[in-house]
Amino acid sequence: MTKPAQVLVVIPHPDDAEFGVGGTVARWTREGKDVIYVLCTNGDKGTNDVNIKPEELAGIREQEQLAAAKLLGVREVIFLRHPDQALEDTPEFRKEIVRLIRMYQPETVVTTDPYRRYLWHRDHRITARVTLDAIFPYARDIHSYPELLEQGLQPHKVKELLLWASEEPNYRSDITDTFDIKVAALSCHKSQIGNNNSPSIEERLRERCTIMAEGEDCELAEAFHREDIRQ
Ligand SMILES: [Zn+2]
Repeated sequence: MTKPAQVLVVIPHPDDAEFGVGGTVARWTREGKDVIYVLCTNGDKGTNDVNIKPEELAGIREQEQLAAAKLLGVREVIFLRHPDQALEDTPEFRKEIVRLIRMYQPETVVTTDPYRRYLWHRDHRITARVTLDAIFPYARDIHSYPELLEQGLQPHKVKELLLWASEEPNYRSDITDTFDIKVAALSCHKSQIGNNNSPSIEERLRERCTIMAEGEDCELAEAFHREDIRQ
């Protein structure tokens, strides 16, 4: 049987989690919580470099994601390896997420907000919508997947949902003490952010996280839309 984890983070592309929830993940793992990453796509299209082949890029991005997760203290990274820009809201994808929720039995699930208006990456929208559906009702209900039940994967009720990149944030997480690790973890994604723009990445993030902390009793924060789930 799989050892349960308190937090499951469902991520569209390599580096999204570090931007969205990296500082909070570092704080959780410092507090002794187990965090599992589920990376849905292999990120093989996100480049302007025509000379790099998609499969080569996918391999690089996995290594970068593993390095970032290690810095943040993430227990395990699960790679679903769907092609970048090709996610669909299918029964198969939903079942993959349900299976993982039932395996790890997290109290908290974190993903991106699916309901940003206008331009929003399709993979983000679909990852998040499928994750929300997987939490409720599919992971919860005993008759949803008889075949999972046969494999010993019991229904599970998630208690809390956190969505990053939300247009309606209602919860701020203090990351003042873990901001430096968030920056270091993001810097592991060299194929996406380049080798020598760390100072500007840090400046940009500091500005963003300062704004997200406005009105709170902390210097730097990550903001989420939070749902307390009473199922
Ligand atoms: Zn993304």
